[in-house]
Amino acid sequence: MKKLVCAGEILVEIMAERIGQSFLAPGPLVGPFPSGAPAIFIDQAARLGQPAGLIAAVGDDDFGRLNIERLRADGADISAIKVHRGAATGTAFVTYETDGSRHFVYNIKHSAAGLIEIGAEARTLLASADHFHVMGTSLFSPEVIEVARIGIETVKARGGTVSFDPNIRKEMLDLPGMRDALHFVLSKTDVFLPSGPELFIFAKAADEESAVREMLDHGISAVVIKKGAQGAVHYDKTGRTASPGFVVDEIDPTGAGDCFAAAFVSFWLRGETPEKALRIANGCGALAVTKKGPMEGIASLATVEAFVATARTGTP
Ligand code: ADP
Repeated sequence: MKKLVCAGEILVEIMAERIGQSFLAPGPLVGPFPSGAPAIFIDQAARLGQPAGLIAAVGDDDFGRLNIERLRADGADISAIKVHRGAATGTAFVTYETDGSRHFVYNIKHSAAGLIEIGAEARTLLASADHFHVMGTSLFSPEVIEVARIGIETVKARGGTVSFDPNIRKEMLDLPGMRDALHFVLSKTDVFLPSGPELFIFAKAADEESAVREMLDHGISAVVIKKGAQGAVHYDKTGRTASPGFVVDEIDPTGAGDCFAAAFVSFWLRGETPEKALRIANGCGALAVTKKGPMEGIASLATVEAFVATARTGTP
C-alpha cells in the first residue's frame, strides 16, 4: 500500500469548558488533547490502515509524549518526530462563541514545532514515501516552508504525488515568502482540497466551476471542495461528483477538514472511485465533529464503513 508523509506542527489543544466562556477571566478548561493539523491528518490515515508518517518536533515534556503515544497507538510512523530538550511542545488554547465561531491563542512558531527540520530520520522516512501532503497552516516560517519544499521534491523525484489543503487565513498571505510558497506548492499539487471560499484565494474566476477549471488547466488532477455539513464536491477532467454530508450532532468542528482530507487522499491512493473516496471522507469528517478534541472523533476503517452504511445524509 502507498505510504503517505506529512510535515508540520504537533500541538496540544486546551479549551474553555463552556460555550461563551472567554480567556479574559479565569475559568474551567478541558484538555490537553493531541492536536496539530498534520498530526490529525496522519493519525486519521493510519487509523484507516494507510501507511503514514509524520515529520515533526515536540518538546521533552508530557504534551509531546501525549501526542507521540497517540500516534504510535494508532499505527502511525513516528520515527521522524524529533524530541527537543530545550523547547516546549506547541499549544493552542480555544474558546467557543455562542455563534459557533472559535478563537485561538497559539504558541507554535516559538515552540518545538518551529524547530522542525529535515534530519536523517526525516530523509529516511521520505525515501519510502509515495505521497506528500501539505497543510497551509504549516507554512508559518521560512524554515518550515523549506521542509515542505524538500518533502515535495523528494516524493516527486520518486514518481510520487502531492496533495494540498490550504487551510489558510487571509492574513497569513502577507507573511514573508508565503505567496511564493503557495505558488510553488500549487504548481506541484495533484489533489487540491480547499474549503469552499478558499478556492477563490487561488483562482481568478468568481464562480466555482470556472475557478476549478483554472486549477485543472494548471495540471492539478483532482479538486475536492469541502463544504462542511453539506459534504463535498469532487472535480477532475471527466466531470463533477457531489456527495452529501452525514447528519450528526456537531460538538467540536476542529479537525474535520484534516480527517476528511486524510480519508480522501488514502482512498484516492488506493485507486477508489471519487464516489467511494468522498463517501468515506464525508464519514470521517462527520464523525470527527461528534467529539470534543481534534483527534477524539477519528474513526477506524471498520467504524467509518459501518457508519456510512447506515447514517442519514443531508442535502448536498
Ligand atoms: P475545514 O475544517 O477544512 O474548513 P469543513 O468544515 O468543510 O472543512 O469540514 C470538512 C468535512 O467534514 C466536510 O466536507 C464534511 O464531510 C465533514 N463535516 C464538517 N462539519 C460537519 C457537520 N457539521 N456535519 C457533518 N459533516 C461535517
